[in-house]
Amino acid sequence: MSDDKQQENTWNYLNENLTQWVMESKSHSMEGNVASYIPELANAPKDILGICIMDSQGQTALSGDHDFRFTLQSISKVFTLILALMDRGEEVVFSKVGMEPTGDDFNSMLKLELVEPGIPFNPLINAGAIAISSLIAGNSPAEQTDRMLHFFRDIADNSTLDINLDVHQSESDTAHRNRSLAYFLKDNGVLDQQVDDVLEVYFSHCSVEATCTDLARMALVLAHNGVDPIRKKQIIPRRFVQIAKTFMFTCGMYNASGEFAMNVGLPAKSGVSGGILSMVPGRYGIGVVGPALNRKGNSTAGVHLLGTLSQKFDWSLF
Ligand code: GLU
Repeated sequence: MSDDKQQENTWNYLNENLTQWVMESKSHSMEGNVASYIPELANAPKDILGICIMDSQGQTALSGDHDFRFTLQSISKVFTLILALMDRGEEVVFSKVGMEPTGDDFNSMLKLELVEPGIPFNPLINAGAIAISSLIAGNSPAEQTDRMLHFFRDIADNSTLDINLDVHQSESDTAHRNRSLAYFLKDNGVLDQQVDDVLEVYFSHCSVEATCTDLARMALVLAHNGVDPIRKKQIIPRRFVQIAKTFMFTCGMYNASGEFAMNVGLPAKSGVSGGILSMVPGRYGIGVVGPALNRKGNSTAGVHLLGTLSQKFDWSLF
């Protein structure tokens, strides 16, 4: 059978069965809880699950609550990392953050004091992402936020992508832990700007609102090493996508990244809103949302659904 025919068969099989798999995974949302430490996130319904899988022609397989709107939260950190790499280069970025998983919670400050030099272990934990926010080009938080939004809109090919101001406010009002991390970073010489200015950019990128289709579209560019296969243009240098995907593998799913690599085997990044961005390299971009989270902070139903898909289609890269 030709490659094209095989791909068509896979796509048809996926479309025929996706809703059934979503229904099966949806029951797992009852095992989790919606994040409430950012009060606005607690409004999300617990029992929803949606997915979009996009192929390189832009065809979508959609199922469940795929049009539910949620904020990117930590998923945004993948793209701010890429933007900082594009704006400042590898050397500057890796003078501010390390390359290793922590084994600690995403908002922990433990290692900032315990391990020399006092830079965050990686760009996907909160401390690392706050350091990365400070590196986005611009002379003010407003300019940096503007640059971030334009970049996100370009990758998502969606000029309407915007910040959810209620979530932004809610994050800012309750960011005691993130403020502590940022002051710690400032004291360690990691941040050049004022703490509040850096946090303003950080809250903004975490509060960008999207759907599963936006996530899948953004993931598609990463799946094709920085080239948008639909508009046929290179948006991100390949090397920076390689760096981003490596971090997604090693620390994209919080302290369950090893387990996810073993059971699903795809690069992925989750956020506390219940979103998961993943991809089948060279083929599909994937966006999932299921706001009920397990104790490690990942969507219970979303992880289950990605596990099912990976098994059915033998997607694991290992
Ligand atoms: N804005 C969230 C925070 O800073 C992001 C956390 C996450 O999604 O992991 O706590």
